This record gives sequence, structure tokens and C-alpha cells, in this order.
Amino acid sequence: MVIRKILMKKAVKKKFRQREEVEVRDYPIPVKDYSWEPGKDPKTRREIEKFFNSPKIEAIKRLIVDLGRRSYGRSFNDGNGGNFTVRVGDNLVLCTPTMVSKGSMTVQDMCLVNLDGEQLAGSRRRTSEVLAHLAIMRRQKLAKACCHAHPPHATAFALAGLTPPRCANPETEIFIGQVAVADYDTPGTSSMAELVGEAGAEHDCVFMLNHGVMTWAGDVETALWKMENIEAHCRTCMLAAQLGGALQFGPEKAEQLIAMRDAMGFVRQPDCRSFKSGDKSLLWNMDAFVDAVAARVAKKLGKGKKR
Ligand SMILES: [Zn+2]
Repeated sequence: MVIRKILMKKAVKKKFRQREEVEVRDYPIPVKDYSWEPGKDPKTRREIEKFFNSPKIEAIKRLIVDLGRRSYGRSFNDGNGGNFTVRVGDNLVLCTPTMVSKGSMTVQDMCLVNLDGEQLAGSRRRTSEVLAHLAIMRRQKLAKACCHAHPPHATAFALAGLTPPRCANPETEIFIGQVAVADYDTPGTSSMAELVGEAGAEHDCVFMLNHGVMTWAGDVETALWKMENIEAHCRTCMLAAQLGGALQFGPEKAEQLIAMRDAMGFVRQPDCRSFKSGDKSLLWNMDAFVDAVAARVAKKLGKGKKR
């Protein structure tokens, strides 16, 4: 009886080990990018409609609807704010419609445009901000999906003309790196789109001054993840500023994270080693801030004495 029990235990352990091995093999890192055959875009109106309603495209539409709800639920999208795009051909991009809340969007609301922004399919009008997404996609072939939103903390930085500190959060160094900044222009215009396209060509995340945030990736879910990353980073840095400022690890440690970023196939950023901390970097260092204020006060008092 005892021997049987021991044998049974051994058998269970062996089975458990086997199951563990199988589980590891069964869950490789998923490839989420949509790929298409170059030179095979549908051309005629009929071909485009068939493609637009095909099971593969319907699946992406459902994913966008789901991501819209997730993004809206996290307060990234005020009113009808924000939009998503997914490149689905040489000259085909799926996008969200104008004037529809990301919290109540449906599969039937989706639109199809070409890289010039001309609408090819969908009963609703495409978002005017699609032009900024397309401006990035035209410049950067790795950008197969974009996410634009107005998450409160990251948008606060964009309104203040600041970027968050580097070397404060390892995940942000890997997934975002250096945030690019696009000057302000009227939303939905082609001139604003070009500013975002320039800034976003070699940066995963762009702060659009006085407006919001744009992120891009190989697939739309990762583009939203990056939006979550940058919003969380900005929020935590603001909280850390109230506690005296975020501690920063050195550039030599950041080098290791840049190497990890390269290994993951993210875009090479020309200024990834600049470690810029925003225009008003004193904001992130309470001691330096107090020293600067004390120096200003002393200077003013000195001037007062002379009079
Ligand atoms: Zn916007």
C-alpha cells in the first residue's frame, strides 16, 4: 500500500513536470502584427467592400472596439476624444470614426482609408485626426498601428510643454525611451499631421503640445500598452515630485535598458542617450529647486539693499 502511494506520488510529480514543460511550449510570445502580401491590395469598389467585411478585418475591428472600451474606461478619452488606426495593406488603413465615443463604439462604426486619408469604406466619416497617424505610417514602416488619446497626466505634461524625467523607471526606458514633442497646430489639419509625423518617425511616443499623446507600435494593442506606460509614468513622476522628486539611475544602467529595447526590435531613437528631463528639469529635483529659489531670493534681496 505504502509503495503504491509512493509510486502514485512519483507519477503525479512526473505528470506535473510534463505539464509544466508543455505549458511553456504552448504559450510562445504571440505575434500580433497584421501582415499582408505586398502589391495585392484590393482595387475595385467591390474588392474593397469584400476585403473590408472579411473575417480577418472584422477580427481587427472587434479588437479596436475592445481597446476603445479599455481606453475609455481608464479615462484616456474625454467625449469623443482619441482614435486608433491599423495598417492592413500597402495603401490601406483601418481607422475609428469621428464624433463617436470610444466607450460606445461598435464594429459597424469602423472606416477604411488610404495613406492619403481618402475614405474607401465604412458608413461613418473617418476621424479628422487620422492624418497624424498616416503621417507617421508614411515615414516609419514599423508603425503598423497608432493610438491617440488624451490621458490626463501625460496630457498635462503636453499642456505644460514638458517631458517626464528619463532614468526614473526601467519599463519606460524600454517601451518609450525618449518622448518626442510636436509643436501645436490646429487638430485635424494636415500641418498638425506633418508635425506629429516628423516627431513620431523615430519615437514611439509623441506629446502633441496643448493637445494630447500619440503612440505607435507593430500592432494596435501594443500601441495602447505604450499609452498606458506613458500615462502611468507621468502620473507616478507627478506623485514622486510631491515626495521630493524621483531618484534617477545613471546613464550606464540606462545603457542596459537601451540594449534590451534594441533586442525587442523597437525603433532606434537618434536621441535615446540624451536623457533629457524636460525643459524645466528643476521640477524633478527638490534640492536643486530649493537652491534655485534661494539664489533668486538672495539676488532680489541684494538688489533691494542697493536702492
Ligand atoms: Zn486629440
